[in-house]
Amino acid sequence: MKLTVKLLPKSISIFLILMLLLSFSTVFMSGCSSSKASEEKSKSKKKKSAAEEEEEPEKEEAKEEKKDEDQKTEKTEKSEKAEKKGDKKDEKVEKGLSGEEIWKDLMVGNKHFVAGTHTTPKLVSMRQSLVNGQKPKAIILGCADSRVPPELLFDKNLGEIFVVRDAGNIPDPVVLGSIEYAVEHLHANLIVILGHESCGAVAAAVSDEEMPTKNLQAIVDRIKPAFEGSTACPLGGKSNMDCVKLNIDRSAEEVLKQSPIIKEAVKEGLTIVKAVYKLDTGEVTRLN
Ligand SMILES: [Zn+2]
Repeated sequence: MKLTVKLLPKSISIFLILMLLLSFSTVFMSGCSSSKASEEKSKSKKKKSAAEEEEEPEKEEAKEEKKDEDQKTEKTEKSEKAEKKGDKKDEKVEKGLSGEEIWKDLMVGNKHFVAGTHTTPKLVSMRQSLVNGQKPKAIILGCADSRVPPELLFDKNLGEIFVVRDAGNIPDPVVLGSIEYAVEHLHANLIVILGHESCGAVAAAVSDEEMPTKNLQAIVDRIKPAFEGSTACPLGGKSNMDCVKLNIDRSAEEVLKQSPIIKEAVKEGLTIVKAVYKLDTGEVTRLN
């Protein structure tokens, strides 16, 4: 530097020295200002983070509130869905299982039969759909008479009605056992005691004549008590519609008297309908 100063004219040396001083001061100042700026920056950062810290709980609270709201909405939606499901279930119970409604449905079928407008039975598909089980809605206790087939006269298909038939629609122990099975295990909610006009078994019982076999005698012996003390249908006379109705009444009474299971089921909502069938018109008429 000394050498440079010696070699250069004095004025230039002074100029150079001034420039050097100026550059030092600039560097110093810029250093100061940059440190000041970084200080400011860090301060502002601190401020920002402090502000953020203050804001954070608010945000968290807001998040929690939103979560709660979402959960509430979800719960409400779920409970609404559950309620709707319950409603549907109740509707199903009301619609599907009431004995009176099942009876109405049987009557619709009987109208088809009377008018000759049977619904076409899809026997093959019905047969296939019933391979794994049955759930008949109604139990019919009817006479074995070939002119009174319940499936036809109620316009019902396979699996729809549980039919027990014998001569004179008598509820003997085997018949009662069959009905109990349908009540207990298949949960049918209606029993129809179905008698019919001009019933041969009733006529045989009313005649009070001795039967040629003990098995035939067993039939009339079970029917005869229905006419004891009756003036409308005296034993030894000719059968009429009153005799048929008296036999139906007795069958219904015996069903309840002889079967505690059925008696209990009636208390819980099982319906028993007494009905009579007219051979010429095809009509089923309710008696109770
Ligand atoms: Zn009969």
